[in-house]
Amino acid sequence: MSLVEDRGTVAPADTFHSTDPANGSLVAELPVHTADDVAAAVARAREAAQAWGALGFSGRRTRLAAYRGYLARRMHELADLVHRENGKPHADALLEITLAVDHLAWAGAHAKKTLGPRSVAPGLLAANHQAVLEYQPLGVVGVIGPWNYPVFTPMGSIAYALAAGNAVVFKPSEFTPAVGMWLAEAWAAAVPDLPDALQVVTGLGETGAALCRAGVGKVAFTGSTATGKKVMATCAETLTPVLMECGGKDAMIVDDDADVAAAADAAVWGAMSNGGQTCIGIERVYATTAVHDAFVAAVTAKVSALRPGSDEAAAYGPMTMPSQADVVRRHLDAATADGGRAATGGTLTDGYVAPTVLLDVPETSAAVQEETFGPTITITRVDDAEQALELANGTSLGLGGSVFTGSARRGMDLARRMRSGMTSINSVITFASVPSLPFGGVGDSGFGRIHGEDGLREFTRAKAITRQRFALPVPLMSFARPEKAADALARVMGLVHGRHR
Ligand code: NDP
Repeated sequence: MSLVEDRGTVAPADTFHSTDPANGSLVAELPVHTADDVAAAVARAREAAQAWGALGFSGRRTRLAAYRGYLARRMHELADLVHRENGKPHADALLEITLAVDHLAWAGAHAKKTLGPRSVAPGLLAANHQAVLEYQPLGVVGVIGPWNYPVFTPMGSIAYALAAGNAVVFKPSEFTPAVGMWLAEAWAAAVPDLPDALQVVTGLGETGAALCRAGVGKVAFTGSTATGKKVMATCAETLTPVLMECGGKDAMIVDDDADVAAAADAAVWGAMSNGGQTCIGIERVYATTAVHDAFVAAVTAKVSALRPGSDEAAAYGPMTMPSQADVVRRHLDAATADGGRAATGGTLTDGYVAPTVLLDVPETSAAVQEETFGPTITITRVDDAEQALELANGTSLGLGGSVFTGSARRGMDLARRMRSGMTSINSVITFASVPSLPFGGVGDSGFGRIHGEDGLREFTRAKAITRQRFALPVPLMSFARPEKAADALARVMGLVHGRHR
């Protein structure tokens, strides 16, 4: 029998193991779902989508509330599983689940207002019609998720897709499949009349690829840019639309008049929490000459107090995915080979990366240009905020970012011009916790949006309906149209629009 290898443990080829990244112990053995299994799940979901859609907004809202209630009552149980399978501290897992619950509440409460039918102005040419716009579900949405926030990240798609009236088939990362399974089992327990509206299929990349080929209405992908390109190519085979939430290399700008202590605190949290394995984590800081030295001193002091580990007091856990440690190692090596230096950290021991502050790393270095996804940060001295912005905008990725400044106006101006989907002023990552704000990137960070009204619409198709309220005395769109009607219309349009120069 061929074997599947995973973090040193082996499982039969039709199953795979997830393990605790802190000690390699087995967390779960799960099936590798085949293309047939995935097709069967999607077929069940398609049927469930009919019933789920027929419930209407209020029926779905009630059930989404039952789901969030179930999660909220079992937060510690789920957080414990996240801690074991992903490695992050229990408290960080709780925070992640809290955010997911909040998004579920928002999506359920706002779906009707955002997506429900509304009359819109019919315009001059169709003044005798009622014009109705509504957003209809796509049927079944396939969600492919990563391991770094195994609850919050997929829920950003799942909650909004469900609230919009779709059924969901979710393929979690092979590193956090038990968390995915837990979420589906929780759904079945909380919404027993429609368990198939949210299902999970487990496996490796091939299972995800099968979901792309299964004829779903859309695939919502969250993961690396490289895998995102593969997912798009697979989806192109069946013209399946995609939502791409990919990687980031988020920058923080620290301006002359910034609160340096607050900026340092935020930078350290933004860079090091979750072991830096955060798509919207801060990986680069551009600090103006006026504040640079004080900022470096404050960051270095804070970082020296951090200790990675798997115990309750640890600041962050091990690298969840072993191969990511290789990327971090490569970037650390590149940073020093390219002329930079580590003010602190720079080591990688037994799957734990020491909190690392890198200085004087050239912009061309892989450590500055590529997503590192570890507890590392580069700090670069710049003349002013304009230069900082230019460098911040200098990578192909553009997910989030942060600006620290004493001026609200300047902050807004820099935030607007930052090439990213989201920016927080005088904080980090805040936008992800605001359910009414859309979440997503530009460039290699992907396209499409989860969260907020845009996130609800992302999982729908716009439907346009006109209803004639009364017939015009002179029909325009008929072969019975009088000969002079078009000339008369042209005269009217000339009067209405012709005066504009
Ligand atoms: P990967 O790209 O490695 O995997 C993402 C998902 O895609 C996994 O479920 C994976 O399954 C699946 N997959 C792999 N190959 C294929 C394939 N050929 N077809 C279909 N699906 C496939 O990402 P990671 O799990 O390593 O997650 C980390 C990345 O996610 C980082 O780049 C991070 O920035 C990004 N991310 C982006 C976010 C955003 O909102 N923009 C949020 C969170 C993370 P398997 O695990 O079984 O291989």
